[in-house]
Amino acid sequence: EACNAAVASAEALNAFIVATPEKALEAANAVDAARAKGDALGPMAGVPIGMKDLFATKGVQTTAASHILEGFVPPYESTVSQKLWDAGAAMLGKLNMDQFAMGSSNETSYFGNVASPWRKAGSNAAMSPGGSSGGTSAAIAARLCPAATGTDTGGSIRQPAAFTGICGIKPTYGRCSRWGVVAFASSLDQAGPMARSVEDCAIMLGAMAGFDPKDSTSLDASVPDWFGNLDADLRGKRVGIPREYRMDGTDQAILDSWDMGAQWLRDAGAEIVEVSLPHTKYALPAYYIVAPAEASSNLARYDGVRYGLRDLPEGAGLQDMYAATRADGFGDEVKRRIMLGTYVLSAGFYDAYYTQAQKIRTLVQRDFEAAFEACDVILAPTTPTASFPLDSLNNDPLTMYLNDVFAVPASLAGLPAMSVPATLTAEGLPLGLQIVGPAMDEQGVLNAGLAIE
Ligand code: GLN
Repeated sequence: EACNAAVASAEALNAFIVATPEKALEAANAVDAARAKGDALGPMAGVPIGMKDLFATKGVQTTAASHILEGFVPPYESTVSQKLWDAGAAMLGKLNMDQFAMGSSNETSYFGNVASPWRKAGSNAAMSPGGSSGGTSAAIAARLCPAATGTDTGGSIRQPAAFTGICGIKPTYGRCSRWGVVAFASSLDQAGPMARSVEDCAIMLGAMAGFDPKDSTSLDASVPDWFGNLDADLRGKRVGIPREYRMDGTDQAILDSWDMGAQWLRDAGAEIVEVSLPHTKYALPAYYIVAPAEASSNLARYDGVRYGLRDLPEGAGLQDMYAATRADGFGDEVKRRIMLGTYVLSAGFYDAYYTQAQKIRTLVQRDFEAAFEACDVILAPTTPTASFPLDSLNNDPLTMYLNDVFAVPASLAGLPAMSVPATLTAEGLPLGLQIVGPAMDEQGVLNAGLAIE
């Protein structure tokens, strides 16, 4: 009953693409049976969660919020979702998102916009829950589920968490298996938990992470007890404030929240130091070359033969079928990325764009390595603005891309990064703060997050 009620309220936000109350009930019954037998219960036992529709779920439609995958029912389960079921979690349904995880507002879904439960003071305009994990952020912020999965390629866990006043952590690249997660940009894609508290994120990340031989970029490292080692005492820790993140045009409210965050960490015992990440301004342009390049290659598989949609016009040949299926099946933003990616990978432009972007990526990684000689974690805003009304940035992809300016550097460097709620703007909208740590130091990131929470 609770499941059905949650799913009904979810309809107003359009947070779910498919609801699976029967799956949730089945899992809850399995937990009850295990408890009755006296069996040990997993760390997520009986916790109802939503699953971003990028994770393949056996027997349950998986679309990446695209028309081209509509009706695709995977015969296999992603590693991360399987681990969550093994830990006792119960699936409420598949969450809406930006199509193929491309977007920052949840307006590129084939299944319609997702609305945030938040409103600006004095206005009833529906606000963006952020993206691409916007169904996830909206569902958690609206209390439809305590936690859910997200994925982050260039900010898609952190930005929606910031927009909706919740927590979300993108772990080190390779911590969570990409096997069975619909690929966007494989060298950047990382799954992670989103939840209302740092503690819940720590528990859920522990259940999601771990080496997987089926993912060639999976980290062969043991999973630490992040939850058991949470500690908000930051004495002896140095927190770096990156000078280059003080960009012209950033809202004063964002800068104020950043100062407040630094003060909270100081109160927790940390020393605040200034650090420099000199190549920051090149990170976003490099991301918007690398990510579309990988996307154009990954999305070549949607040809009308192997999955989902097939448009076969009367008397059409193979090429016509490819063209018709892809023209009909992909949304505008996805097509824009495929065209950008194909262009930067083309023989004449590869060196000028793709090779340059890869070099910048290395410089961004080195910036972080140098900064972490002088500090343990970095504190920065998650986004340059608070949430904006749905439909307000239509036809303005560049402004949309700029929303990821603070999130993308950690993605290019593959580093763990978290957003925690900081404060509200004068208009009553949530703002988040971002903590970035050195590779493999999710614990340091979570601990600093706990000190802010
Ligand atoms: N908003 C960014 C993009 O559109 C990041 C998306 C993501 O992290 N999946 O590419």
